[in-house]
Order: sequence, then C-alpha cells, then structure tokens
Amino acid sequence: MPDRAPQPVDRQLPTEEARDLITLVRDIAAQEIVPSAAEEEDAGRFPRELFTLLSQSGLLGLPYDSEYGGGDQPYEVYLQVLEELAAARLTVGLGVSVHSLASYALAAYGTKEQQVEHLPAMLGGGMLGAYCLSEPHSGSDAAALRTRAVRDGDDWVITGTKAWITHGGIADFYTVMARTGDEGPRGISAFLVPGDAQGLSAAVPEKKMGMKGSPTAQVHFDGVRVPDARRIGEEGQGFAIALSSLDSGRLGISACAIGVAQAALDEAVAYAADRRQFGKPIADFQGLRFMLADMATQIEAGRALYLAAARLKDAGRPFAKQAAMAKLHCTDTAMRVTTDAVQILGGYGYTADFPAERYMREAKVLQIVEGTNQIQRMVIARHLVGPEER
Ligand SMILES: Cc1cc2nc3c(=O)[nH]c(=O)nc-3n(C[C@H](O)[C@H](O)[C@H](O)COP(=O)(O)OP(=O)(O)OC[C@H]3O[C@@H](n4cnc5c(N)ncnc54)[C@H](O)[C@@H]3O)c2cc1C
Repeated sequence: MPDRAPQPVDRQLPTEEARDLITLVRDIAAQEIVPSAAEEEDAGRFPRELFTLLSQSGLLGLPYDSEYGGGDQPYEVYLQVLEELAAARLTVGLGVSVHSLASYALAAYGTKEQQVEHLPAMLGGGMLGAYCLSEPHSGSDAAALRTRAVRDGDDWVITGTKAWITHGGIADFYTVMARTGDEGPRGISAFLVPGDAQGLSAAVPEKKMGMKGSPTAQVHFDGVRVPDARRIGEEGQGFAIALSSLDSGRLGISACAIGVAQAALDEAVAYAADRRQFGKPIADFQGLRFMLADMATQIEAGRALYLAAARLKDAGRPFAKQAAMAKLHCTDTAMRVTTDAVQILGGYGYTADFPAERYMREAKVLQIVEGTNQIQRMVIARHLVGPEER
C-alpha cells in the first residue's frame, strides 16, 4: 500500500537562514510543543516556559530590527514560522502573534530613545506582551473606547477596563490605547505600560470554547501612572497606531489559521488511510477523496493569499486590503477544514481522543479576533467603494 502519511509542508523560503529557522521551529514543535499540547489545553495551562525558550531561540522578535534584538526576517518568513507553531498548538502560535502585535507600536512609532530603552527586552529578553484595545462595550467599534489617560505633570494616569486581553494578567508589558482627548478616533493615544505597574490588575480569565491554555482576561487600570516617556507616537495618534498594528496582526492570524487547518488536514489524511470500512480504507471512497482534495486546495489558496500580502508588506507597498482578505479567507478556511476533518474521523472525530475536535474549537476564535470577519468585509469594501455614509 502506498505511504499516505502526511508530509511536511513544502515551503518556498527566500534564504538558507529561513530554511534553518523552519527546521528549528519543527524541532521545537515536535519535542517541546506537540507532546503536551492536548493535555495542557485540557488543563487550561499556559506554557510560559516555552515562550522563554522561544525568546532565547530568537523566535519572539523575528520581523523586527536586529539592532533592537529582533530577527530581521521578512514577514514572508515570520508568518511561515507562525504557521508551523500554530499547527503544533494554537495557544503558542497565536501567543507569538499577539506578542508581535503588542511590540509593533513601539517598533514602528516609538522614538529612538524609547526603542533603545525598551525593545531589546521586549523582542529578545524573555518578555511577553499584550495588546489592549477592546473594552467591555466597544469591540468592533473600537474607537468608542472609554479608558482614559489624564495628564498629571510629567505623568499620565490611566483609568478604565480593557476586555478580552490575550495574556491578561501574565504579560510583562501592555500596549494600551486610552482616551486623552475628545470622543472618536482622534482622541486616543497609545501607551506602553509595565506589567507590574501599580493599579494594574486582571480578572479571572474567561472560560472559553477553545484555546483554553491561552489566558484571555479583563485588565483593570485603576489610576495607573506612567511617565510621558511611555507615550507612543503623538497625542491623538493612538487609534491610527492601533489600526496599523492590526493590519500586520491580521497576517499573523491568517498564518495561524492555515496552521490549524493544515494540522486538521494531516490528521484527516492519516486517519482516512488507516480506517477501514466496507473492506477497504475510507481514503478509497471518492466522497472523502473529494473532501480531502477541497480541504487541501483551500489551504494552499489561503497560504498563497497571506504570502502575497506579506510580500507586499515586505516590499513596503500598501497591504491593508490584502491583509483583510487573507484574514477573511484563511480563518473561514480553517473553520471549514476543521469541521470537515471532524466529519472524516466520524464518531472518533467528536471525541477528545483525537485532536480534530480541538482544532475545530480553536478555528472558531480566529473568525472573531483582530476584527471579526464581518469587519474584514467592511475593510475590503472600503478599499473598493470608499467609506460608508454615516
Ligand atoms: C479569545 C479572544 C482573544 C482576544 N484577544 C484580544 C486582545 O488581545 N486584545 C484586544 O484588544 N482584543 C482582543 N479580543 C477581542 C476581539 O478583538 C473582539 O472580540 C472582536 O473585535 C469583536 O468584538 P466584540 O466581541 O465586542 O463583538 P461585537 O463588536 O459586539 O460584535 C458582535 C457581532 O456583531 C457583528 N458586527 C459588529 N459591528 C458590525 C458591523 N458594522 N457590520 C456587520 N456586523 C457587525 C460582529 O461581526 C459580531 O458578529 C479577543 C477576543 C477573544 C474571543
């Protein structure tokens, strides 16, 4: 019988260094992530020590400048690393993506002085970041946020509650969008808040459908005082910084989604080759062969789409529309492919004895975070026909 075990994804990588990086990530995934992923997700355990290892291995600052502790890698490479990590365990892939999102504001908009002071610890010094935009009453309408920062001498005093914060309560730094001016997007500024700041606390993490190992919590700012030297960008520029961070972050979500989808396809292929019904492997039935073919095709299309957007970004060209398209397509693909994988495994697919059901629960959140897929369609449409009339 031919070998039908899944093969590692054959990646197009621009350099020898990038190929070495993928080999390193596959080794870490096989040895340190996959063996404990199901058990730790079940127990809701966040693998903090793994993030220390990723930082020591240079994998927490890949797309940033090596002058500040980053890895100098193009997005084309960084995203493929993320895809491999997410295929091993979404809590890890998404955690790296959120850390990168949280680092973006300072790396792209910070002053040289701020970057020299903070970035090396953030990008390669073992720190873990969180990105604080959403609030209990403002999710998709993020510009309606109410957390306020009030000037007091050389300091700002931040008061309010952020919601749904990935790494809330365990992060070493929080990139926080807070209102410093009038209502609306132009009244918002960005701040870099240390995790041990007085007055910062986190609620008990949410009980989620999936990604239970990744803590998601409300974060309270009760008169948190930060010096003006921790304000990122200009006063009133915070919302533009938040949106620009999300353009890149959405590419990270796209890559994570394709990682989860690929893991589910690999599981389905291996199972279909092994499981026999009616005297032959179920992989011989055309009904399932066509499903597998469709799953693989959607995944390849998703990978090509996020890589095309990444290459635009790497070339310094506008990529926001393509990032929204990639997020929409890749996360919808992850939902569809993981659902089909459960179907291919039959009754076993619906049990925790196989990872297919975990992949399906994990895929769902990717259609929601960093702008729901309805919001992605709004972004794409704006690029096509301009803004909606108010
Ligand atoms: C596990 C998890 C981790 C997260 N991590 C973070 C994080 O680290 N940092 C952070 O800041 N946020 C984070 N979020 C928040 C996430 O970004 C929001 O949940 C998301 O933006 C949607 O906001 P909402 O949940 O308030 O939904 P709402 O905005 O209330 O939307 C509800 C529904 O209405 C739809 N909708 C809203 N407006 C429109 C419209 N104009 N047209 C059509 N449909 C619309 C939405 O698509 C959705 O289906 C996280 C969320 C989750 C679940």
